[in-house]
Amino acid sequence: MFEGAGKAPALASTAVENLPTFDLGEFKLKKTKETASVCAFCGCGCGLIVYSDGQKVIHIEGDPDNPNNEGSMCCKGIALGEANTIVDAKRSRITNTRRLTEVLYRAPGSSSWEKKDWDWALSEIAKRIKKTRDETFEETDENGVRVNRTQAIAHLGSASVDNEENYIMHKMLRSIGVINMDHHARL
Ligand code: SF4
Repeated sequence: MFEGAGKAPALASTAVENLPTFDLGEFKLKKTKETASVCAFCGCGCGLIVYSDGQKVIHIEGDPDNPNNEGSMCCKGIALGEANTIVDAKRSRITNTRRLTEVLYRAPGSSSWEKKDWDWALSEIAKRIKKTRDETFEETDENGVRVNRTQAIAHLGSASVDNEENYIMHKMLRSIGVINMDHHARL
């Protein structure tokens, strides 16, 4: 046993004793509404219970009745409740004021962000995809084999989209010759 190993539990227990007490179990049962949901961060589809006060999320935890995860969740899923809210100095959850709610655009070479509307952003994305695709499209490879592809565009998918949306996305990407596709849950 290394020197001082026996002291660590005493120190840890002192630190825990000094924390402000808060009975989350009692609070969530008496003051919140439970909604069963599914974590959308990867394809495992872990079940979770969302506790809310009617306005904002108070707490999220794994659903013990869900056969996929039987109550457990990975660190990514358990942080789901932080996506919209942050914990302030009084340890209460407030809407995260740094969350972006509108399109911000930084032009090439610029150091400042401009507010744009979605119509502008979507047509700009479409224009740039078409231009890149047209400029880099390869009908055949170096051996003369037909490939009909562009290697200048890559697509990163999302676990937050469902099968039907993924199907449409794949069709669209394949139709313009995109072959580099991956998924954020693998990163
Ligand atoms: S990200 Fe984690 S908690 Fe969410 S579905 Fe995947 S394994 Fe489950």
